[in-house]
Amino acid sequence: MTAYKIVDHSFDVVVVGAGGAGLRATMGAAEKGLKTACVTKVFPTRSHTVAAQGGIAASLGNMGPDHWTWHMYDTVKGSDWLGDQDAIEYLCREAPRAVIELEHAGMPFSRTADGHIYQRAFGGMTQDMGEGPPAQRTCAAADRTGHAMLHTLYQQSLKYESDFFIEYFAIDLIMEEGVCRGVIAMCLDDGSIHRFRAQAVVLATGGFGKIYYTATSAHTCTGDGNAMVLRAGLPLQDMEFVQFHPTGIYGAGVLITEGARGEGGYLTNSAGERFMERYAPHAKDLASRDVVSRSMAMEIREGRGVGEEKDHIFLHLDHIDPKILAERLPGITETGKIFAGVDLTRQPLPVAPTVHYTMGGIPTNYHGEVVTLKDGMPDTIVPGLFAVGEAACVSVHGANRLGSNSLIDLVVFGRATGIRLGEILKANALQEPLAKDSAVYALGRLDHFRHAEGTTSTAEIRLDMQRVMQADCAVFRTDRTLSEGVGKIDAVYARMKDIKISDRSLIWNSDLIETLELDNLMSQAVVTMHSAENRKESRGAHMHEDYPKRDDANWMKHTIAWFDGWGGNWPKSGVKIDYRPVHEFTLTDDVEYIKPKARVY
Ligand SMILES: Cc1cc2nc3c(=O)[nH]c(=O)nc-3n(C[C@H](O)[C@H](O)[C@H](O)COP(=O)(O)OP(=O)(O)OC[C@H]3O[C@@H](n4cnc5c(N)ncnc54)[C@H](O)[C@@H]3O)c2cc1C
Repeated sequence: MTAYKIVDHSFDVVVVGAGGAGLRATMGAAEKGLKTACVTKVFPTRSHTVAAQGGIAASLGNMGPDHWTWHMYDTVKGSDWLGDQDAIEYLCREAPRAVIELEHAGMPFSRTADGHIYQRAFGGMTQDMGEGPPAQRTCAAADRTGHAMLHTLYQQSLKYESDFFIEYFAIDLIMEEGVCRGVIAMCLDDGSIHRFRAQAVVLATGGFGKIYYTATSAHTCTGDGNAMVLRAGLPLQDMEFVQFHPTGIYGAGVLITEGARGEGGYLTNSAGERFMERYAPHAKDLASRDVVSRSMAMEIREGRGVGEEKDHIFLHLDHIDPKILAERLPGITETGKIFAGVDLTRQPLPVAPTVHYTMGGIPTNYHGEVVTLKDGMPDTIVPGLFAVGEAACVSVHGANRLGSNSLIDLVVFGRATGIRLGEILKANALQEPLAKDSAVYALGRLDHFRHAEGTTSTAEIRLDMQRVMQADCAVFRTDRTLSEGVGKIDAVYARMKDIKISDRSLIWNSDLIETLELDNLMSQAVVTMHSAENRKESRGAHMHEDYPKRDDANWMKHTIAWFDGWGGNWPKSGVKIDYRPVHEFTLTDDVEYIKPKARVY
């Protein structure tokens, strides 16, 4: 192996990721006086959080009656009863405070006439424990809420004593006997290797939407932290639950926010029919995302799609006052023009369900502490390791996330993680030296790919992976597509043995970095497909046509999946699957556990 020179650092806390979750956790830890580093592969304000459009949910009640327990009910129902209710209670109760905190930090929210934060309707958000009309709960900064939020958080984070390592790519965790002791990263600018020792590592590395061909996610959403966890011999949770957003622009996959329907937009089929009235008589176009995506797919499948291939649906905004569109949805007006060539004040937009969010990820409790299933005991804490944001699975979103519930998840659990770190760590506490071989595993993997001399390019294998996921692990799933999918994705994974890298440099080598990212994606694609094949019911985003009903007696449980097939040379048994019970309890006595019932909108 090449001898790599290593630069050593020592911190109390290292946060990997500078999206909404990573920045909020960094601020929280620094505020507690902990010496904190934030390591990020892209400049903080280029994290995917910047692309969030529609808004952030909190029961402020600025535009009508609302209560955090109603938000909790909707989130539990949205999760199709796979969410853990203790964590959901924490999220919804803390949400208003988190939004006010953002307001005080200077976040430029849109305003009502009397100066309050503007809130719009979003799918699945209702009044009166699901009994009432839609709740206007989603706080918005026009249709650029993530942009406003991420810039606010980044500005704030500069006030604190924390060190940013920007454009550093984290390769792997340093684990010693089940304890996380740091992380190995590479500086993209000069190729130097950095070893961070820390009392705690927080993974805030975002989702893994890029295992699919058409996704609203950025190119950087490769779930690197999730893959590091798998490589550390730890499991991921609920990976089969992948959210398809109803309105990606047909062909381009670029997102049109649910806020467009929140402002009165609606969908039609080739007959010009507002078909959502048939599938969700009450909520119609504002039913939850899994329901709307599925209804669109049904229309297309039954020959009522629009366009030459009858393979998409129309989204109408042309009936809305252009002044309102310009004020509340300026970004998507522009997006419609650029990516679909449509003037949405006059014409409908061509849209199709598009991969958008990954509910699964690193299992944690509501303090951000990573947990595992060990010797049959669920919720066993992994010392030194935290996860927050889309990388984590707390689980508040369960089998289906409600729109605008992710941005709030970032700041509520980012803050909770900071609080927990403050409770359990002592600033500047003495840390044992790291084991001599602490970098060997990470650098061995780097070296392996850097000198890979096979015959297949990274881009070719990535495309194969994305096509298999798109075809066989999509909105509708069957025993046949999933068992074929398992065979196909295993075969694609085996091709990693034959990967070819043409550039051996360590400096700004996108071929090398994309290969490390592909290796990260591959393990998650394999785990996602296997987890999906194993779940014989339909729940939330996992619609299994051979088992079309939710089956609480047998399946109200979280999938826990391990992966041990590194190197691309492994038998089918590389994925091990187990389950842990859903938390059927709340955090406090203020609310009762919400019992499962049929989920209709
Ligand atoms: C187009 C779009 C619109 C959305 N709109 C909304 C919305 O309106 N409301 C809502 O609630 N949700 C929305 N979502 C979902 C929400 O935006 C995301 O779930 C959320 O922003 C994820 O934040 P995060 O902090 O977990 O990760 P990200 O913002 O994705 O940030 C990940 C961070 O990790 C870093 N990182 C990753 N890997 C490495 C590595 N190997 N080494 C170093 N650093 C690394 C990156 O540099 C980055 O800083 C939207 C998502 C998309 C894609």
